[in-house]
Amino acid sequence: MIALHQSELFQAAVSLLYPATCTICGKNLRPGDYLCNECEEKIVRITAPFCQTCSEPFEGSITSAFTCANCAHRKIYFDAAVAAYRGRGIVREIIHEFKYGRQIHLRHLVSRWLQAALNDERLRDCHFNIIVPVPLHPARQRERGFNQASLLAELLSAHTSIPSKPMLERVRYTTTQTALDRSERMENLHNAFRLRKNADVRGLRVLLIDDVLTTGSTLSECARVLKRAGALSVHAATAARA
Ligand SMILES: [Zn+2]
Ligand SMILES: [Zn+2]
Repeated sequence: MIALHQSELFQAAVSLLYPATCTICGKNLRPGDYLCNECEEKIVRITAPFCQTCSEPFEGSITSAFTCANCAHRKIYFDAAVAAYRGRGIVREIIHEFKYGRQIHLRHLVSRWLQAALNDERLRDCHFNIIVPVPLHPARQRERGFNQASLLAELLSAHTSIPSKPMLERVRYTTTQTALDRSERMENLHNAFRLRKNADVRGLRVLLIDDVLTTGSTLSECARVLKRAGALSVHAATAARA
């Protein structure tokens, strides 16, 4: 956290010396903005039709609510996972810079995208009791310096007044999921998470937070642990869907 605050002080100092510029194209901006209008227009909202469970968008003109084949053929433990934006192009680049490029100030932009997910009708009227970030393994968190999901959860908590607490911990250092298919991901994640000591989620309506939803396997595994521990419901929100 100390490193984080120092880097923020540095960012603040830099922004006094130099005008704000678009993170993508470098065009000058008003202070507090991260993208120029042209770059902003290139980011793509997820719009219907999409799977009610995992938000996977589909081409075409399906007008009724539906569940995709992937969700129909596996046990999904979250009630719904909502992603606001397609995780491509600029969105992908920004999230990558935020996570791996140590551009921690970009969390403000990513958290705006996350907030957009809360307007979805599957989440709007849920009256969540608690926000829970998807945890990183401690070794990975040390390596990265922060957990992106925790930073987003804190900003969302400030915005919504719903408390954010790290109820879960990651106990298995899993290899990167990127190269794995769906069933390998599930296998890789099995027992990767557990409830933290003294965490009590009994009777709570949980909003689970991560930066990106890929197959939903991580969110589902976290939801499984939370529900087994007594959570009443577990919905998930992410800024983007890969
Ligand atoms: Zn731009
Ligand atoms: Zn689905």
